[in-house]
Amino acid sequence: MADTTPGLVCGHHHLYSSLARGMPAPPRSPTTFLEILEQVWWRLDVALDLDMLRWSAMLGALEALECGTTAVVDHHESPSAIEGSLDVIAAACAEVGVRVVACYGITDRHGADGARRGLEENERFLRAGGRGMVGVHAAFTCSDETLTRAAGLAADLGTGVHIHVAEGAVDAGSALRLAPLVAEDWLGVHGVHRPAPLPEALGRATLAHNARSNMNNAVGYARPREWPGPVVLGTDGIGGDMLDEARVAYARAREDDVTTTPENVWGWLAAGAALVPEAAGDRVRWSYDGIDDPWRAAFTPGVRALDAWVDGVQVLAGGRATRVDGAEVRARAAEQAQRLFARL
Ligand SMILES: [Zn+2]
Repeated sequence: MADTTPGLVCGHHHLYSSLARGMPAPPRSPTTFLEILEQVWWRLDVALDLDMLRWSAMLGALEALECGTTAVVDHHESPSAIEGSLDVIAAACAEVGVRVVACYGITDRHGADGARRGLEENERFLRAGGRGMVGVHAAFTCSDETLTRAAGLAADLGTGVHIHVAEGAVDAGSALRLAPLVAEDWLGVHGVHRPAPLPEALGRATLAHNARSNMNNAVGYARPREWPGPVVLGTDGIGGDMLDEARVAYARAREDDVTTTPENVWGWLAAGAALVPEAAGDRVRWSYDGIDDPWRAAFTPGVRALDAWVDGVQVLAGGRATRVDGAEVRARAAEQAQRLFARL
């Protein structure tokens, strides 16, 4: 038994959503997944500016690190502040000491010009040496032309596409539209409403499973054990606590199929290292000796990350970030959250 593990990887995050907690309630209660997008997330993302984004990303990175998550695969959208947004996220994560694979989620929801500017932000960031992928929101908010352009850019740059796929019934047609474009280095998120049989090419991509988010949005269960390709775990923006996420994913998987083992789910957690290989060299020391045993990790409450090293540098000591003042980050994020809420 051991009290250390490699750094954990969040395979799908939205660092821009860290300020959302406590936001004013929507005008009416959403009754469907699409209404949740329209009344919560699409009101929030359009109100973001780069100052809000900076402190949202700082807070999200800090919270991830405090939970032993040393790498985040982020999916970003801020339609009113597109240009430079990926630099802001990358800089915030670097400041805290967390690795990030960034992307801008392009969409035609704001017209062809919005999609073009989003694609340009991906290209600008990646060509300048930024660590990332080409982001697409989801096929159901994009024309075929936009999807083809994103796939082409990702192929040119050798990065893969990071895209929500079949999260809700509203996006059930996406798998067939994406099948002619998809490559093995793509990261498809959710896959709840994927068709059976699954197009073979799509099944070779990595699936990011977000059990808590899927339950929260009542979109159904993705049955990740049936995905033919690699599976990783993400939070979909609900924090960066991957140990907690794995426990939720285990409980949800077990509810569906009692033969599921913690090894299945902790295998998905470990597979996140394929997205950010350097994280395998990061170390986290936990408050519990036995954290390396999935059967113990799945059922032991209150386990905390104490120390973490990224690239050999200690970025967490005694549960506190070493490079930034956690209290200061929370205070600045709270100020920005008030600015954001005033716009909603
Ligand atoms: Zn997402």
